[in-house]
Amino acid sequence: MSAPTPHPKRRVLIAGGGLGGIATALALQHKGIDSVVFERAPRLRDGGAGLHIFTNGMLALAALGVADQAAKIAPAQSVCRFATSTGRVIGEYPVGGFVERYGQPTVAISRSHLHGILRDAVAAPIVTGADVTGYTEHAGGVTVHFADGSSEDGDLLVGADGIRSAVRTQLLGPQPPDYTGYIAWRGHAEMTPEEFPPGTFRALFGPGTRFTYYDIAPNVVHWMSVANGPAGGRDEGTPEQTLDMLRARHAGWTAPVGQILDATVASSILRGDVVDRKPDAVWGRGRVTLLGDAAHAISFNIGQGASLALEDALELADRLAAPGVTVAQALRAYEAERQERTRPMQLLAHRIGVMGALQNPAAIWVRDRVMKLGWNRTFQTAEHEHVAYAMRWASDTAADAS
Ligand SMILES: Cc1cc2nc3c(=O)[nH]c(=O)nc-3n(C[C@H](O)[C@H](O)[C@H](O)COP(=O)(O)OP(=O)(O)OC[C@H]3O[C@@H](n4cnc5c(N)ncnc54)[C@H](O)[C@@H]3O)c2cc1C
Repeated sequence: MSAPTPHPKRRVLIAGGGLGGIATALALQHKGIDSVVFERAPRLRDGGAGLHIFTNGMLALAALGVADQAAKIAPAQSVCRFATSTGRVIGEYPVGGFVERYGQPTVAISRSHLHGILRDAVAAPIVTGADVTGYTEHAGGVTVHFADGSSEDGDLLVGADGIRSAVRTQLLGPQPPDYTGYIAWRGHAEMTPEEFPPGTFRALFGPGTRFTYYDIAPNVVHWMSVANGPAGGRDEGTPEQTLDMLRARHAGWTAPVGQILDATVASSILRGDVVDRKPDAVWGRGRVTLLGDAAHAISFNIGQGASLALEDALELADRLAAPGVTVAQALRAYEAERQERTRPMQLLAHRIGVMGALQNPAAIWVRDRVMKLGWNRTFQTAEHEHVAYAMRWASDTAADAS
């Protein structure tokens, strides 16, 4: 990386130290803009789920200077296959070709690994135990307030504080996220390369339930079982009993679903209601903006939430570093650009979730055939709209690397 020139006056306050907040601090660092991250948790969280990072996310990581570190851990995928629970193929994404076309693979990685890689690259202070409750704008700046009564001044505030963002609530009013109608159970299995070929991605669809799996590190397979049900439920009993329930749910599914569940560490299982939001027309006012899930909460169905947060970070830093623009002009330009990008993705992910949740056999029969017929077009859209978009930062990567 070339040494950044310190920006004369902007100090960016970032609420939230998740992937989006930390990536923003790193993107700003590359532009020579100071920032400070305020994270509510008493320490930066480890653990969490596996993430499928499409090539656009890897291009964003390359522009942030950390793609190589991610690629060292994250298995590269060659084909993402979508099939019925009995293994009948609905469609495939030959993502292996993306390396040649775009210079970066499609990979899978654990959230904690990716978070750690970004954190290690960030020089800006990350203040933990800092629970943002709101902000006040005033002439020439913004003050962010914390639950313990303290406050901090800066030139602008980025709300990267997740789907239930406090910054968003002050901006747009209280709006709970929308429950999608389905629940996700996620876990990890320990499997050798002989048991699970590295770089495998599969999503299997059954009636009202789905099972997705991919490896996120050597010998570690991440899986997700999704089923329809009411919000707010809990698994009674031990993690082993939850695992038994999942085995029963997926009994008779094509291999290696049973083997993955048998190799699962029961204590790794996490359950969560899946929520998302409809696209919003307003992401900011004055010196305040939103980023990542706070701005465009998206369900996991197209595996883009984290990648979009990384792209947001790069776009925001580009806009703030542009010469001759005020803070407000830079933020509104960032929002306009990113809304156009994220809006169709949010809607697509929601639609795919609705299709994936179908229970009626006749509707499923139609869905599978429609998906099969439209597959090539869907894949081309994924390539041209999801991946080619991020090539705009490829020149930054080349310039930084030289
Ligand atoms: C089941 C599931 C599967 C997924 N799979 C994928 C996938 O395969 N690929 C993909 O790209 N994405 C996936 N995603 C989405 C992805 O995880 C998110 O989009 C991404 O992590 C968003 O990052 P973020 O930084 O915006 O928000 P978050 O990761 O939620 O981070 C927000 C941070 O803000 C902190 N915070 C919250 N409130 C405050 C406050 N008041 N003050 C200070 N700090 C605060 C939180 O503690 C947290 O650290 C998945 C999500 C789910 C639920």
